[in-house]
Amino acid sequence: METTRQSREQVLQALRSQVTSDQAVAATPSPHWTIEKSEELYRIKGWGEPYFSINAAGHITVSPKGDRGGSLDLYHLVESLKKRNLDLPILIRFSDILEDRIEQLNACFAKAIARYSYNGVYRGVFPVKCNQQRHLVEDLVRFGRPHQFGLEAGSKPELLIALATLDSPESLLICNGYKDREYIETAMLSQRLGQTPIIVLEQPDEVELVIKASQRLHIRPILGVRAKLSSKGVGRWGGSAGDRAKFGLAIPELLSAVEQLKQADMLDCLQLLHFHIGSQISAISVIKDALREACQIYVELSALGAKMGFLDVGGGLGIDYDGSKTNFYASKNYSIQNYANDVVAEVQEACSARNLPVPTLISESGRAIASHQSILVFDVLGTSDKPGLAAIEPPHEDDHALLRELYDTYDSVHLKNYQEAYHDAVQFKDEAISLFNFGYVSLTERAKIERLYWACCRRILDLVRHEDYVPDDLEDLDRNLASIYYINLSVFQSMPDAWAIDQLFPIMPIHRLDEEPVNRGTLADLTCDSDGKIDQFIDLRDVKPVLELHPVTEHEPYYLGLFLGGAYQEIMGNLHNLFGDTNTVHIHMTPKGYHIEHVVKGDTMTEVLSYVQYDSDDLIENIRRRSEHALQDGTITIEEAQLLLQHYEHSLNHYTYLSSD
Ligand SMILES: *Cc1c(COP(=O)(O)O)cnc(C)c1O
Repeated sequence: METTRQSREQVLQALRSQVTSDQAVAATPSPHWTIEKSEELYRIKGWGEPYFSINAAGHITVSPKGDRGGSLDLYHLVESLKKRNLDLPILIRFSDILEDRIEQLNACFAKAIARYSYNGVYRGVFPVKCNQQRHLVEDLVRFGRPHQFGLEAGSKPELLIALATLDSPESLLICNGYKDREYIETAMLSQRLGQTPIIVLEQPDEVELVIKASQRLHIRPILGVRAKLSSKGVGRWGGSAGDRAKFGLAIPELLSAVEQLKQADMLDCLQLLHFHIGSQISAISVIKDALREACQIYVELSALGAKMGFLDVGGGLGIDYDGSKTNFYASKNYSIQNYANDVVAEVQEACSARNLPVPTLISESGRAIASHQSILVFDVLGTSDKPGLAAIEPPHEDDHALLRELYDTYDSVHLKNYQEAYHDAVQFKDEAISLFNFGYVSLTERAKIERLYWACCRRILDLVRHEDYVPDDLEDLDRNLASIYYINLSVFQSMPDAWAIDQLFPIMPIHRLDEEPVNRGTLADLTCDSDGKIDQFIDLRDVKPVLELHPVTEHEPYYLGLFLGGAYQEIMGNLHNLFGDTNTVHIHMTPKGYHIEHVVKGDTMTEVLSYVQYDSDDLIENIRRRSEHALQDGTITIEEAQLLLQHYEHSLNHYTYLSSD
């Protein structure tokens, strides 16, 4: 972590001069606020280019084809979707972004191959586990066809998807994950349909299964082995590599596999070496180390008589979530081109040293392909009061001594003593609470003291904000004094990684970006779970505990967007508190503008209730029967009973999220 911080620090140094002091909160919006300031504040250029930017109206613009023209105003799109009865929260997919990502990845490898005169090709595959939604996988296969882009399956159900969706023998079907006899036979038989499955041996006992299946079916499969590299992965998914990794064959196991295949006269089937060192690899040096080790294993396998022809470098290609271009965990210090260059150069060198023909290169880049294509737009339902803004009056003679002392502290806060003042204020407040618990401070007095305490904190925060150095004990002030923005969303359903592993996603308003965001807030979701919140946001320096936001007004909805969440979030989302899938639309750019290709309505309450085995007819019948009893008992009127049933039935057929009307 130390080195991570260091190189990030260097980048910060270079950028710090650009950061203006306008980010300090002002009570009223600055008339001098510009969209450029919003760009800088939310770092949209860093993580969003070339797809997302801000237009003159202060709205986010989406350019799904990147630099190749065509764009739309995201705010207007959301408004027009709402007119089509597609309520928020809504997941908007841009199929053109998906296409552009595939093209970029392939173009980078093509360029690297040309640059190093690599005498082989790149045939990427998309790991289905990253996003299994049918429309998306179908799009991927279609966009991938010109590049012979294939699919990677990590489980039996994913194999079923890949088999039915891939339709070209040129595209590879990489079969990973735990396998049983049925998995292996299904994969082998698909060769007869003109597919090109490569069965990757991940566990020692899969070798025997594969040999038996091959003999039974009289099919000679293409086989791969997944090696457990000793090069360490880093970060969150670092455990995917190394001796304790869940998958892959250790070197002795790899050699036994070779021996077993040789005995069965199948060594020529072994053609691929695979490794995967984890997802979101932030540092290119880690990838290089792994490549070096894998290349040596590759050439050695070849020397042992395997008919090697494919090297599969797995996933891990990172995304710059915070736009800092560093080796911070939410960023990466390399481009796709750097990545492709390193893969090609490293393999080229290892093979030429042994006079071996170079392999077909495969990468299983999921996150890098699927992250950008969707935006989740959600609305803010309301905000909590900001503590510390109440007007403070000097205390009276007969006010509690603690209140008077706290007021003196409040009154004397200045740049030279704020840390001490903070400690004093905390102490006075804590004392007041103890005295309250013993009955020596009244509820009214306690309210006054707490109000004054928050005012004191806010004064200190306003001073601290302009300082370069903030003492550790004051770092929580920003969070404690932030407003809470209540969002119409479930973090558990729509951004599970933010909850489970503190992953950072860029989140920002999609409109009003020509107006200064004078508030600072954290986000709280609809669930009754205190973990259902977002209080870590991307920042140039590490992460920030609060997000700059606009005051919410009564007459205008306030929309926020979550970006780069197109990988992993949808399928890992869960039904906590029974909030279901959100509405989803697929947008495709046309010469005239855009076209809504598919609408996938979010779950209704009937649907989510059926996951937990409730039948909506039974539920309605239950309420009807109870209403009848209540009518007979005279505890409900016929009109009330009718309204209750109406609401109940209507809810069952509708969205699990709150509606704005
Ligand atoms: C998850 C996974 C991938 C995808 O990794 P990304 O970092 O999303 O590119 C690729 N290969 C294997 C074996 C995986 O388990």
